[in-house]
Amino acid sequence: MNPPAGQVVDYLRLSVTDRCNYRCVYCMPPEGIPSIPHEDIFSYEDMGFFVGASAEMGITKVRVTGGEPLVRKGLADLISLIRAVPGIQGISLTTNGVLLPRFAEGLKAAGLDRVNISLDSLDPERYRFLTRGGSLEAALAGIEAALHHSLAPVKLNVVMMPDILSEIADFVALTRDRPLHVRFIEWMPVGGCGPRSAGESVTKAEVMKVLHGLNNRGSLAPEPVDPPLGWGPAHYFRFPGHQGTLGFIGSVSDHFCRECNRLRLTADGRLKNCLFSSAEVDVKGAVQARDRDAVLALIGESLEGKTFDKNVLPGRTNRGMSQVGG
Ligand code: SAM
Ligand code: SF4
Repeated sequence: MNPPAGQVVDYLRLSVTDRCNYRCVYCMPPEGIPSIPHEDIFSYEDMGFFVGASAEMGITKVRVTGGEPLVRKGLADLISLIRAVPGIQGISLTTNGVLLPRFAEGLKAAGLDRVNISLDSLDPERYRFLTRGGSLEAALAGIEAALHHSLAPVKLNVVMMPDILSEIADFVALTRDRPLHVRFIEWMPVGGCGPRSAGESVTKAEVMKVLHGLNNRGSLAPEPVDPPLGWGPAHYFRFPGHQGTLGFIGSVSDHFCRECNRLRLTADGRLKNCLFSSAEVDVKGAVQARDRDAVLALIGESLEGKTFDKNVLPGRTNRGMSQVGG
């Protein structure tokens, strides 16, 4: 796959649903977002066909996301379909984790390699506030299930919401004795959800300052990024002797367009070449007609429109994070 800048696009984020069992404050309004009607959602066979076509165009890694992907029935069936596609080397899942105790074993057996679990606080009250009712205990059980079934490396996604600075030491402690990789993510203004003022969001620089102030058997050192830790735009660090790492996705301040290697498919069959753009290529008809040549042409069209040198800050886009898949 050769987009204009000559950069390799080899990573597909596949959203399987826009529905979710949470209403995180940084992602959705309290009342949720109107759901895509069931009849407009791609079947797993549609998604498997699309992944097959995208593999022909150079995609080697697929991340299954949502909404909450585990609320969609039979997700392991999709994982099996993707696993059978020649050329797909890695399959990962982004989830809030609360349904993992039930599904981790079957997902692993179907061919899932690893998971990213959202975990925005280690304080039960704050976790409940941020997820609008979620259970920290359930999310922690999901992390245990992921470790138990070797869905590794297990990465924990932490959106840097106000008050996170008081929890940095606790997140560092998680990385000490277990192979958990904590990634701090800047709160992004996507689809109308985002900080309303600069003071509402915490930056990488602020978290780094706290990290440098901690002394965990020595000081923080940059960690070389080898796959599968680094498919994406994160930068990693490690305290000496710690099993896990600490990473940053500074999507706003680092503005990672030049490192972007990804395409996104929404659950209703729209291809997006940029999280921060409302532009979409509709692949639904071509996929459901199983018209391989047409799908390849549409993927090419989406890639043609992919730019890597945007200098503008992300604006308000047509879909929220739960509708794109992050
Ligand atoms: N429901 C799953 C979960 O929460 O992991 C997968 C979908 S969620 C949209 C994917 C990722 O996007 C999560 O790690 C979540 O924390 C992140 N996310 C959602 N809204 C965000 C925002 N406004 N800024 C930054 N990250 C966001
Ligand atoms: Fe749901 Fe994930 Fe959005 Fe939270 S971040 S509301 S779990 S889609």
